Amino acid sequence: MTTFVSDFAAVADWIDRYLADTRAYPVLSQLQPGDIRAQLPEHAPEEGEPFDALMDDFQRIVLPGITHWNSPRFFAYFATSAAPVAVAAEALAAALDVKAMLWRTSPAATELEEVVMQWLGELMGLPPSFTGIIYDTASIGGFTALAAARESLHLGIREHGMTGRSLPRLRVYITEHTHSHIEKACIALGIGRENVVSVPCDAEFRMDAGELARTIDADIAAGMRPMCVVATAGTTSTTSRDPVEAIAGVAKARGVWLHVDAAYAGVAAIMPEFRWVLQGAERADSIVVNPHKWLFVPMDCSALYVRDPELLRRTFSLIPEYLRTPEESVRNYMDYGLQLGRRFRALKLWFVLRSFGAEGLRERLRAHIALAQEFAGWVESEAGWEILAPHPFSVVCFRYAPQGASAEQIDERNAQLLEAANATGEIFISHTKIGGRFALRLAIGNLRTTRDDVAAAWQILRGLV
Ligand code: PLP
Repeated sequence: MTTFVSDFAAVADWIDRYLADTRAYPVLSQLQPGDIRAQLPEHAPEEGEPFDALMDDFQRIVLPGITHWNSPRFFAYFATSAAPVAVAAEALAAALDVKAMLWRTSPAATELEEVVMQWLGELMGLPPSFTGIIYDTASIGGFTALAAARESLHLGIREHGMTGRSLPRLRVYITEHTHSHIEKACIALGIGRENVVSVPCDAEFRMDAGELARTIDADIAAGMRPMCVVATAGTTSTTSRDPVEAIAGVAKARGVWLHVDAAYAGVAAIMPEFRWVLQGAERADSIVVNPHKWLFVPMDCSALYVRDPELLRRTFSLIPEYLRTPEESVRNYMDYGLQLGRRFRALKLWFVLRSFGAEGLRERLRAHIALAQEFAGWVESEAGWEILAPHPFSVVCFRYAPQGASAEQIDERNAQLLEAANATGEIFISHTKIGGRFALRLAIGNLRTTRDDVAAAWQILRGLV
C-alpha cells in the first residue's frame, strides 16, 4: 500500500532524474498522429487504479508523446526552462489549490502577487507607478490591455455594446512582425481584422515611426478613431525591437493607447546593459513581459503592467452578490480581467526571484546571449551559410544558401534541413519567414543548455548539407 508521501517522493525522484537527464529523450516527439490515442482505453475506468499504474502509464504512454520543452537541446520557438525550485512551488500551489480571485480567498496570494510584480518591475527599471498583474499568457494580458484601451475611448461600449448604433471605426496599429494574439484580440473585441493596420517596417524589421504618424493622421482625417498602437520589444520571428521611444512620442501626441509587447525580451531589462530594451516603455499605457518565457518560471506566468489599474478595473469589474466582501482598500484580482478563479502563480515567481537572486538571473541570461552570439559567429564564418537578421538576444535566424541556388531552391533546401535536423531527435529548432523567405531559427533559453549542446546543434545542421 503506497501513501501520498511515498507516491510524491517517487514523483520528486522521477522529476529529479528527468531534469538531470533530459538529453536522453528525443527532443521532438517522434510519434505519429493517433499513436497516443491508440494506447488509451475508450472509457474512463469504473474502479480506481493504484498510483503505480498511473506512473507506469505516464512513462510508457505519455512520455514518448512529449516534446521536451525542458530539454537543453530544445532550440525552437522561444526556448524556456522550468527551474526545479519553481516546479516545487507549483506542487505547493496545487496542494493549496488557491483561487486567487478575492483578497479574502487567500490574502497571501494577492499580496505576494503585488509584491513580486513590484520587484520584477523594479528589476526591469519600470517606474513604480506601474501596477503589475499576473495573467496566464501574454495573449490574455494583451487582450485585457486592448479591452482597457477600448474602454478609455469613452464610447460607452461596456454598457451599450458595439452593435445597433453608430460608432467610429476603431483602429489598431501593428506591423507584420507583431505577434498574432493582437489580431485575435481585435477579433474578439469587435474591432475587426480590417481595422488592424500594418505599419511598414525598416530593413531591420522595426516599425517605421514616421509611417505610423502619417497613417494615424490619415485615419483621423478620414473620421476614424485610433485606439491602440502596439510596439514590440523582441518580435517573435527575429527579436527585432520597434523604436519604442519614437512610437511613444507619436502615440502620446495623438492621445492613442500604447501597448508594449515585450513578452520574450522584456526580462532582458533586468541587466543594466540591456535596459534599452524597455526604454520608452515608461510612457506606455500597458506592457507585457513573460516570466514563463525567459525567466525560468514554468508555464504559465505572464505579467501585464498598466499605468492606470483603475481603468482596467472599470473595464472588467462586475461583482455579483455572492462575491461581495466587506474589506476595503484591498485588491480583488477578479476585477482585472475575464477570469474569476486564478492560479496562485506569484508563488513560483517568488521562489525563482529569491532562489536565483537578481544577479543569478542576469548571469543566466548573459550566458544564453553569449551562446547565441557564438552560434551566430559559427554560421557567419561557414561558407554557404548566412545570418538573416540582427540577433541582439538569444535567438538567431539563419539559413543555408549555397551559391548558384535560386530563392525557391534555397527555401526548399532549408525546409528539408529543418525536418531532417528535427527527425534526428537530437535537437529541435523551428523556422519563420523573413521577407517572404524561409529562415531557420535557433533560440536559447534553457538553464541547462551548454556550449556543447549548441555546438551539437551546429554540427547536426552542417552535417546535413
Ligand atoms: N508576444 C510575443 C512577442 C511572443 O513572441 C509571444 C509568443 O511567443 C506572445 C506574445 C504570446 O505569448 P503567450 O504564449 O504567453 O500568449
